[in-house]
Formats: sequence, C-alpha cells, structure tokens
Amino acid sequence: MCEFTAKRGDLDLRFTPAPTAQEGIAGHAVVAGRRPMGYESEIMLSAEYKHLLVRGRADGYDPALNRLEEVKTHRGDLDRMPANHRFLHWAQLKVYGWLLCQERGLQEVHLALVYFDIGTQKETELSEPYAAADLRAFFEEQCECFLAWSSQELEHRALRDAALTELPFPHSGFRPGQRQLAAAVYRAASEGRCLLAQAPTGIGKTVGTLFPMLKACPSQKLDKVFYLSAKTSGRGLALDALARIGESAPAMPLRILELTARDKACEHPDKACHGESCPLAQGFYDRLPMARQSAVDARFLDKNRLREVAAAHQVCPYYLAQDLARWSDVVVGDYNYYFDATAMLHGMTVSNQWQIGVLVDEAHNLVDRARKMYSAELDQATLQQLRSHAPAILKKSLDRLNRQWSALHKEQTEPYRVYADMPDKFSSALQQAITDITEYFIEHPAEVDHALQRFYFDALHFSRLLEAFDKHSLFDIAKTSPAVGPTDNSLLCLRNIIPAPFLDARFSASRSTTLFSATLSPWYFYSDMLGMPASTVCIDVDAPFKAEQLSVQIVSRISTRYQHREQSVAPIASLIADRYAEHPGNYLAFFSSFDYMQKVADLMRQEHPGIPIWSQERQMQEIEKEAFLARFAPGGIGIGFAVLGGAFAEGVDLPGDRLVGAFIATLGLPQYNPVNEQVRKRMDAVFGSGYDYAYLYPGIQKVVQAAGRVIRTPTDRGVVFLIDDRFGRGEVQELLPAWWKVEKEHRKPATAGYSAKVSATADI
Ligand code: SF4
Repeated sequence: MCEFTAKRGDLDLRFTPAPTAQEGIAGHAVVAGRRPMGYESEIMLSAEYKHLLVRGRADGYDPALNRLEEVKTHRGDLDRMPANHRFLHWAQLKVYGWLLCQERGLQEVHLALVYFDIGTQKETELSEPYAAADLRAFFEEQCECFLAWSSQELEHRALRDAALTELPFPHSGFRPGQRQLAAAVYRAASEGRCLLAQAPTGIGKTVGTLFPMLKACPSQKLDKVFYLSAKTSGRGLALDALARIGESAPAMPLRILELTARDKACEHPDKACHGESCPLAQGFYDRLPMARQSAVDARFLDKNRLREVAAAHQVCPYYLAQDLARWSDVVVGDYNYYFDATAMLHGMTVSNQWQIGVLVDEAHNLVDRARKMYSAELDQATLQQLRSHAPAILKKSLDRLNRQWSALHKEQTEPYRVYADMPDKFSSALQQAITDITEYFIEHPAEVDHALQRFYFDALHFSRLLEAFDKHSLFDIAKTSPAVGPTDNSLLCLRNIIPAPFLDARFSASRSTTLFSATLSPWYFYSDMLGMPASTVCIDVDAPFKAEQLSVQIVSRISTRYQHREQSVAPIASLIADRYAEHPGNYLAFFSSFDYMQKVADLMRQEHPGIPIWSQERQMQEIEKEAFLARFAPGGIGIGFAVLGGAFAEGVDLPGDRLVGAFIATLGLPQYNPVNEQVRKRMDAVFGSGYDYAYLYPGIQKVVQAAGRVIRTPTDRGVVFLIDDRFGRGEVQELLPAWWKVEKEHRKPATAGYSAKVSATADI
C-alpha cells in the first residue's frame, strides 16, 4: 500500500550495490540479536479501514522503551540513499505505528528507522515520537488514497470480465483451422495446461489465440494476458488484432499495453536515469499518479499513444510503461519480458500472485532466444584493457583474475575446447574480483566508470550462470588472437544449449501458456528444449490450403554440401533462370550463407542479365529491408536473393502474385564446426538423437519457414524448389508439412529458351 501511496520524488536508477536477500535476512537477525530481553521481533499487525484490510509485519518492538523499529539493510554511505526511499520507509513505519497503537491502546509511540550497514555492521538510527492521533490521520490518508484507486480497479475488473464474457468473435466467421486453434487455446486455459500449437500461416493465429485467451479470463479468473513475440512485427500484428477485437466490442474496457525496449522508448538517450540528469526522471513519482490515471483512461496504449500520455505529464515513457504493466489487462512485448533471468513480467507475476495466460508467438524462435538469455561470455581482452586503467585498488584483484585466466588456457593447445567444469581457482578469483569491485562501487558511489560497470555486470551474469552450471550448458574456451600484443587471449563461454531447466518456472507461474508457430515439428524437440510440463497438449492444426496450390519439387541432382558448393553454383543459376523463363514472376532464392548467395547472384547477373535481381545485404537497416520487400510488387517480376534464417525467411507476408515461388538451396543445417559438434555430442548424451537435435530439426524448421512465404492465402498458387539430394530422404520428408505434395524429382526443361522470353518480360 505504501509503495503505491507514498512514493514521491525522483526516479533514481543509479547503480548502488544492494544487499542480497540472504544478507538482508542475516542483517535483520544481527540487529534483533543486539536487542534486550523482552524485545518482540517480527510482530504481525493488522487493522481494517472501511472495506480495506491492512496488515504487515513490523521488525521489532521494545515495550520497555515503547519503541517500534523498522530495520533496513544497506551498503555504504547512507547519504547516497535516494530521498524517496527514506520517505517510503517512514511511511511504512508510520502505518505500523498506528496499527500498533490501535492494537495495544497506546496514546503515543517512538518510531525508529534502523539502517544496518551490511559491510560495517553499524546501525544508524533515526527516531521520533509520534502521537497515536497523528499516526491514525496518516494511516487513514494512505488508506483513502489506496481505496480510491483500488475501488476503481475492482470496478474495472468487473466491467472487463462482463464485457469479455459477451465478447463476440471479431470477424464474420472463423477461417479454416482457426476454430480448431481457438478451441484448443480455450481448453488449455480452462484446464490449466500448456499448449504447443503448430498452425499454418494464413489461418489467423493472432486473433485465433488472443480471442480464446481473453474469453477464458472471466471463468479462469485470469488477471492478465501476456502476448510475447520475438520481433517488432509480431507485436504490431497483435496490436492490430487487439484493435480489431476492440472494434467489435467498443464498450469493452480492456487495457492494452505495448512494452518497448528502453533504447527505443527513451526520450533522452544522452542522459542517465536519475533526477539530476534527466528531466523526465526528476519528480517522476510526484507526477506518476496523474500520468497513470490518464494512461488507464486511454486504455489502448501502443508505443505512440503511451509516448503522448507520458509527454503530457512530463514523465519517462519507458518507466511509465513498467508501472502500467501492473494495471493492464493485456501486455504485448518481447519474449525477454517474461522468459529472461530477471524478467519483469515474471517477477511481477510471482510477487503479486497473478493468474496469467501467456501467448508465445512464432515460438520456434524461443529456443535460440532462451539459449542467449541463459548464456554468458567473458572476454580476456576486455579484462586486459580494463586492467590498464582500472583504479589502483582493483589492480591486484584483476591481475589475479587474469593470471588464473591465462593458466586456464595455458595447457590448451587447440583453439577451442570444452571443459567438464570450471576450475575452482578461476571461480574464486572471479568471485574475489566481483567482491572487490562491489566494495569499490560502495566506497566511490559518485564515480561512474562505464567500462568497469560493464565488466562487473558481465562478470556477475557469468558467475550466476556458473552457479547453475549443469549438463544443460557447455563451458568452453576459445582462443583469440589480440589485435596488438604478443600473447593469445581467450573467450570463456557458458553456452546454454538446453534452456528447459531455466524456463520451467516460467511455465509453472502461468495458468496456461500457448506456444504457437507454423513450424513446431517435431513437437518433442521443442518440448525437450523448452521444458514444457508433462501435461502439455500438442496440436497440429489442419492447413487451410490444398496440395494443388503448391508444387514442391526436389532437385536431387544438385548437392549443396559445403564441398560441392562451387560445382552447384551454375546448375542452381540455370534452375532459377529456367523456371523464371517458363513462369516469370516474383521469386525468392534462399542460400545457407551470404557468400554462397552472392556467387549464384553474380553468375545470374552475368549469364542472365535480363532477369531483375536484388540481394539481401548484411545488417540491413529497416528502410533497406522495406525497399527489398517493396520490389515484390503485385504482378512484378524478378528474383530476390536472401539468406535462410535471415530477415526475409520468416515473418514476411507476400500474398497473391507478390511471390509465386521459392528456391531453397540448403537444408539449413547449422554449420559444421567445433561448437556445433559439441552441441551434437551433448544432445546425443541427453536425448540420444544428437544429429537430429543439433542439425536436422533446426535446419528443416528454417526451410519450412522460408517455403511458407509462398502460399499465404487459400487462393495463392506457387512453387518451391528444394535443392539438394538429401531432401529426398524419408527422415527429412517426414518433417515437411503434411499438406505438401512433394514431387520426388524435378525434371530439367528440354530447352533453355529463357533468353527471348526474359528480355520481353523484363521490358514489360
Ligand atoms: S527518458 Fe531516458 S534517460 Fe530519462 S529516465 Fe527515461 S529512459 Fe532514463
């Protein structure tokens, strides 16, 4: 209650090392142990005000002195504590003060804030006598403020649930397959299970998952729905679907919030997040209540609308959104807001005991994204740069770490090696460095050394993952050659490859999580990788397309294996040109790498100059990507060259004749290299299917995603060429969508008369 009613002043996110939870508990025990006989620790207090029950546990009361204490642990200079923290601590203590006076019939009480420094074990006390009447007035003021808001929230919830119960489907009818998907999502939410739903493109997955989850909210008492996506485009589709759902029920008071990354939402990227630097942080909590009210009144808060509300109240839009996550019904954001190690939405769900429904869009991406979230790297070159200008007091500690680091890879003759364990000497040197840097930050709070801070956070992340190190991850050392200097450096990596153990708490915190994608085959691969609960339901939604719509041709006379790449360039160029000559139109050609793609594209330009060609570039900006896609105009002609697994291989919607075919010159297998070979071995040890789990399943998933660009609607027609003899194998074909009718062998046309036709169509 106090957190909501009594927070005032600036937003202040300057880094100050805080005690850990265990240190906090230990600190409280030390203080209690210093108190005299008769001292009462951890006293439960409660009182009712109107229909509000307020309760809490005060840290201690000394009846002999009539003194009520609230203990707060901290590190370092107390003056560095932001004023609003102190204000909040007093508010909490004053509320406890009234609860105690009321329970024990006291007319007055001494209130004492006891700040206990974890490092020095020293107590700093701030104490004042208070009359019970004054404490009562303060208590009632907080309660009134809280009741005003909570009454509004209760009313909102009742109206929301009534409206969701009556919510009509936002379209005139379900598309084929959409009802099947929606029914499965609703059933999973009702039964409290997770759902893995493979559902083809074009059936309306976004509405097909959002609508049933919203309908389940009243009966399943869901507080929130989180719609999580890997890409900005996925968030956009969800917001469009929610807007459409809103149009079908204009009176529905659903609050929708889009979460965006800090660097995209920040209005002052050149400033730091505290009141002395950023004007939108200064007085943030003073203006937050008004901004919050305006925001919930606005209901639909996509990035732009949220920005307008924040600007009107002169508060930071990014931190306003963080507050609003608590008061919204649907939150649309990136995966990391729920699945990351310190994910905000997961933390709020657990601490507030929310009932939530989670929808994970394009869920095949979650495997790689989660691996990144639970992996960590430390680069010795960074440490060595840091040593050269680090504060003198840290030199010894950083030198020791560097020595242990060098000793680690001294015996390693090969450039890359996986280790079973992290040697204790390195772990303790790392731990000592972290402790020393923490102490340094405590002693020098005003000094901001960004390089030191960056290294510190990386080291903390690394050491936390080291504590959890197990067979779900690899620990490897890759030697690196420095740009300057005589010695080798190395890169230490804790490389998560099976995120399941890290994600299971995420699934168990939700009432129901639906993961959906057009490519979740085989389901047991995704279930094993992500750690889906045993009760998870898997469905494969029928495709709304007919086999006649898509001609799938295997070109087994060409091998795209690495050793055959050079020989394959000319036949692939011919295949593309032949098809183009027979059926001019817009095509996408996918390759396993930029180099391979470039070789075929260059040959095409040289041999078939009449065919319009455009290619994906490395690290394209948003505007360049849009220009690439704009070339796929209705009725247009030409070949777009792209890399499998890249920006144009999924999430791209080119219906009708904007795309009439795709050439896929790769199985999409991850590169054969020492790291992937280690992944294969580990997958073999854990699941007994090393090659499939490390190479085949991730590869074919990318192929099916890319091929899925061709048929987008029930009226589309097109062709997919799967170029490699291995596409003819049974175990590969089993992974292709069931509705595809695969032609085993593509036949070369008898003549290659494309030149005349191509120049004619190119002129057109
Ligand atoms: S506007 Fe930017 S700098 Fe200012 S508080 Fe927000 S995120 Fe921080």
